[in-house]
Amino acid sequence: MSTVKKFVKDSHRIAREKGWWAGRRNDGELIALMHSELSEALEAMRKRASKGEIAEELADCCIRIFDFCGARNIDLQKAIREKMKKNALRPYRHGNKKF
Ligand SMILES: [Mg+2]
Repeated sequence: MSTVKKFVKDSHRIAREKGWWAGRRNDGELIALMHSELSEALEAMRKRASKGEIAEELADCCIRIFDFCGARNIDLQKAIREKMKKNALRPYRHGNKKF
């Protein structure tokens, strides 16, 4: 099993085992929780935390995304592969975008 598929499977299995899927979950709340991990990463940067602490918050965000994809049966690996191919074919700065 490839790495992304395994991360999705394992993240969702662990979250289920820890009781996070005992009831129904709201998609909006789950997306907000992904955001919250990025806010924690930003806060860690502002506090000049170590790279390890910043990485942990980024990992938390990835784990929440993996868990969500496992719960909703989303093929994240396929989506990443397809999007990376698409991005590689886009023009420099995607046609003069500022950001
Ligand atoms: Mg966190």
